[in-house]
Amino acid sequence: MSKNSDNGEIRIFRPGACAPVRGNGKRRTPARAVITGGAGFVGSHLCERLLAEGYEVLCLDNLLTSSEKNIAHLGSEPGFAYIPHDVTRPIFIQGPVDYVLHFASPASPQDYLEHPIATLKVGSLGTHNALGLARTKGATFLLASTSEVYGDPEVHPQPESYWGKVNPVGPRSVYDEAKRYAEAVTLAYARTHGVRVRVPRIFNTYGRRMRLNDGRVLPNFMSQALQGEPLTVHGDGSQTRSLCYVSDLVEGIFRLMLLDRDEPIIVNLGNPEEVTVRDLAVEILEVTGSSSAIVYRPLPEDDPRQRRPDTGLVQRILGWSPKVSRREGLRMVLPYFQEAVRAVSKEVPDFGAEIVPAMPAAASAL
Ligand code: UDP
Repeated sequence: MSKNSDNGEIRIFRPGACAPVRGNGKRRTPARAVITGGAGFVGSHLCERLLAEGYEVLCLDNLLTSSEKNIAHLGSEPGFAYIPHDVTRPIFIQGPVDYVLHFASPASPQDYLEHPIATLKVGSLGTHNALGLARTKGATFLLASTSEVYGDPEVHPQPESYWGKVNPVGPRSVYDEAKRYAEAVTLAYARTHGVRVRVPRIFNTYGRRMRLNDGRVLPNFMSQALQGEPLTVHGDGSQTRSLCYVSDLVEGIFRLMLLDRDEPIIVNLGNPEEVTVRDLAVEILEVTGSSSAIVYRPLPEDDPRQRRPDTGLVQRILGWSPKVSRREGLRMVLPYFQEAVRAVSKEVPDFGAEIVPAMPAAASAL
């Protein structure tokens, strides 16, 4: 692959693998998906799933908060190509594209507070560019939205019809408002240009490949528990979250992507099993067998008090509900965090870096 075409398009020379046949079956090519943020935590699981389903996958990422090590194992897959690219700049792809899945964005509070402008740009300019690609190619567009569009909700659990309670100038607004704008421009493209759009509002998700130091509650508690450090509960720990295991989330996204309906679809994707942050700390102590203490730290500004998805709509239209309980999920993810902590304690500066083969990047950025 190279960027040497006259019109600036990225040329992809790697042929796709045998896979689902696109359209009416006359073109014997695999369906092709562009995943922005494909080297991130959720994005990389999605790349993996689509490849396993026989899709050709083009992963676009600028690695601001993600890592090539998340996709290193996909480098030898014939249907996979990685394109280093900042999606706040225009996206040109040669050839057909059937799905544009827009997952690029810092997503943990720590990350978006550290990259406020980049977060606003990827939610606005990045979404606009990804929509432009979908419109040009006649592709289905799926925006990774978030429960943060509900802000600090006054309605509980949160149904899709709830408009939210967001502080437009608070520290979290860089993410909340970026995603709210992203939803608005996505719906505008559906209404104005007839782009087929899907908007999953993703609630707290966890699983392998979360960064140990991304600041989110689960990696923080896991690494603290496994290193014998105190677990840092913010506030009095009575605020709630509902945690979804990543394989359940990816199943929901896959079903949503394939849903054969033309109208815009906006649905919550998350596990309704709600837990207080304090109880989560206790569960993680139990699962890890740690005797770490629990300590209390100030609650960050605008930290949502309660969060739980109303999953009635998604159950009705996709027949989807999460399969992995929190207990089970915590046990399943434990070996990943144990290995991550071991790597850190051996003072390997970049966890997993030693197992990363050279990534055959499909193209340099435009
Ligand atoms: N939290 C905590 N201790 C930590 C990290 C987070 O008590 O070390 C709290 C945080 O204040 C919030 C909840 O856990 O109430 C979930 O935070 P997270 O950063 O995972 O994501 P959020 O759901 O707020 O986007």
